[in-house]
Amino acid sequence: MNTIEAALYYFNQAANHLELSAPVRKLLLTPKRELKVQIAIPLDNGEVATFIGFRIQHDDARGPMKGGLRYHPEVDADEVTTLAQLMTWKTAVVDLPYGGAKGGIGVDPKSLSRNELERITRGFIDAIHDTIGPDRDIPAPDMGTNAQVMAWAVNQYEKYHGFSPAVITGKPLELHGSQGREEATGRGVMIITKATFAALHRPLSGAKVALQGFGNVGYFAAAFLHEAGAKILGVTDVTGGVWNPLGLDVPALKKWAAEKGSVAGFPGSTPLTNDELLRSDVDLLIPAALGGVLTEEIARDVRAKVIIEAANAPTLAVADEVLNKKGIVVVPDILANAGGVTVSYFEWVQNLQQFRWDLAKIRGELDRIMTAGFDEVWRVSRERKVSLRTAAYIIGIGRVARATQLAGY
Ligand code: NAD
Repeated sequence: MNTIEAALYYFNQAANHLELSAPVRKLLLTPKRELKVQIAIPLDNGEVATFIGFRIQHDDARGPMKGGLRYHPEVDADEVTTLAQLMTWKTAVVDLPYGGAKGGIGVDPKSLSRNELERITRGFIDAIHDTIGPDRDIPAPDMGTNAQVMAWAVNQYEKYHGFSPAVITGKPLELHGSQGREEATGRGVMIITKATFAALHRPLSGAKVALQGFGNVGYFAAAFLHEAGAKILGVTDVTGGVWNPLGLDVPALKKWAAEKGSVAGFPGSTPLTNDELLRSDVDLLIPAALGGVLTEEIARDVRAKVIIEAANAPTLAVADEVLNKKGIVVVPDILANAGGVTVSYFEWVQNLQQFRWDLAKIRGELDRIMTAGFDEVWRVSRERKVSLRTAAYIIGIGRVARATQLAGY
């Protein structure tokens, strides 16, 4: 079962609890608008290259649609549609005044020169500029895109519509970006971890942690958890992994990975594979890299007591059932990694108000929103005797369904 099927399975579980009728389910699942566009650019060698771009606008019942732009060779309409749907439930779970969207281009950005990357981005915005906007649909970075890509995107949009920084978030600080955006998802993971451990009456200080992925989300999650007193025993990235039973020195590991391009070989550690990491004897497991890594087979061997889903869709539905039966507490992606979209929301608010917040204000507001989101998910999970995932979906889908019904069709 893949992540697309998993998302539908989780939706239906919550929809059953909410007793939603088949027509309402169809209404909630059907994207509002699906754009598929041709992007033809001249390559540096003079040849023309044609790419396919997507923007799926899933739902705007609760506000303008919000979601990232992914540049990846495997981007396709079905995957983007599922990710757009997850954004709708995610923004609703943490109660941001947004709907959900997602977009992308089927391309390996590493195969493009900087100039080609700029041209493809401008070409994409040329094709979609009249369907996005600060009050309609607000893109942001995702896999394969970054603040520089957002800078080109907003610049291209402004050629048609004039000064509009609020059309895109995740921009560079120099171009109306926000303090704290880079660290936001990892910091949110730490806030949710603290709340989960407090709710379970488990000490976070000294807790043993294994973490898959040491990129934007994985690094900041590790750094903030390390700061909070947790012990990061194992880390893997795409090239290898490291283990130290006494705890890794996260700032030193970051320096090492920046210099060597990989965590592998970090002094004082032993090598570690992904399989070993996912099965390691720790208190907390944080998948912060790929989707679909927790399969049924791996779930059977997981020894962690708590899983915080920092990556999008890391757990397959069959694996989720196994983890639940084993009594492992799984905090779902639509809550655990909502810190990024929350600080994107702060960026949008600052752009609209033309008033800047400092880092302390960003961190304080992020803490407030993420903690409130956790408390609500925890409460519903206890009241209805369901997993945290089903509780999060009940809250997210329930909010979207109520807004849709109140507004009328
Ligand atoms: P990133 O590209 O910065 O980092 C990805 C990390 O995963 C890298 O360390 C990479 O080496 C590692 N990785 C890749 N393949 C791997 C493999 N086979 N085994 C082990 N490690 C592997 O990406 P990111 O922004 O940190 O995103 C990570 C996850 O979090 C993704 O699922 C993304 O969708 C999700 N997410 C990110 C944000 C955000 O704000 N960046 C927000 C919400 C969700």
